[in-house]
Parts: sequence; structure tokens; C-alpha cells
Amino acid sequence: MHDAQITPRHPDGTLCGHDLSSEAAAQECPGRAGHVLVCACGWTRTARRPARLVGFHRTHSVGARGGAR
Ligand SMILES: [Zn+2]
Ligand SMILES: [Zn+2]
Repeated sequence: MHDAQITPRHPDGTLCGHDLSSEAAAQECPGRAGHVLVCACGWTRTARRPARLVGFHRTHSVGARGGAR
């Protein structure tokens, strides 16, 4: 299966695990420069906007499935 998880990341490339709904965590966060999508199959992709990642992932999962269905 191609279950995708999209995680925001910082300008230095590290993943953002900050819960920005918490004020203390929002203070610590250096900001979000983009998002990284990690597929359950190991495929990854980065983009600024999560909506783009959803599109990339759709193409990926359709292509990976091939003509099997
Ligand atoms: Zn995949
Ligand atoms: Zn952060």
C-alpha cells in the first residue's frame, strides 16, 4: 500500500515536530520552509506546498501500481 505521511520541515531541512497550536512549541520552531512526503513504500518527495505533494503522490501511487489492476 502507498500510505503517505506529510510532515513539515524547517529551512535547514530538519523535520518539524513542533505542535504549532502550542505556544511554547511555536516559539521554538524556526519556521516551516516546506513539506516532505514519505510513502509507506519508502518513496519520498519534498515540496513547498502540501497540495503539490498530494498530486505527486497520486501520480506515484498510480504509476507504482502499474497495470496490475
Ligand atoms: Zn509508494
Ligand atoms: Zn518546527
